[in-house]
Amino acid sequence: MIAAALARLQREGVAVLAAAPVFETKPVGPSLRRYANSAAVIETALDPPALLTLLKRIERDFGRRTGGQRWTSRVLDLDIVLWSGGPFVGPGLTVPHPLFRTRAFVLAPAVAIAPHWRDPITGFTVRQLHARLTRLHALRR
Ligand code: ATP
Ligand code: CA
Ligand code: CA
Repeated sequence: MIAAALARLQREGVAVLAAAPVFETKPVGPSLRRYANSAAVIETALDPPALLTLLKRIERDFGRRTGGQRWTSRVLDLDIVLWSGGPFVGPGLTVPHPLFRTRAFVLAPAVAIAPHWRDPITGFTVRQLHARLTRLHALRR
């Protein structure tokens, strides 16, 4: 599904510069299914809202139903994690993604393709955010 989504993005004129391996993770919330997560570095002339519109169209085309409960199992979820243009806040869109710093399923694939990308909010790189998060988990255990 992830490979098909990346192929579709390329057909839509979005350049996929790097794609991370796929990580299998346990679900957050009420879903019982396991998830496949990955990350990609893309290049596009679209601004963040226009890109999000495209991502939502692709999710819909892949059979994702709109509405209903958040975090239930879905076919495809495409989020904007970081943007080279810095922070972006608009109606229904916040970049960096507000939760990415606390999500190993985002940071682990991101480390594989963009370890030095700096979060404009905290000043930490993706690698540092990931290390911080995994260290935190190790301490709690
Ligand atoms: P989560 O935010 O926990 O990853 P989700 O991806 O499961 O949740 P969705 O139902 O896919 O949630 O999206 C909810 C809304 O989040 C979208 O309609 C979108 O407008 C908004 N949104 C805000 N910031 C972003 C972002 N950086 N990337 C994608 N969607 C975003
Ligand atoms: Ca999401
Ligand atoms: Ca989403």
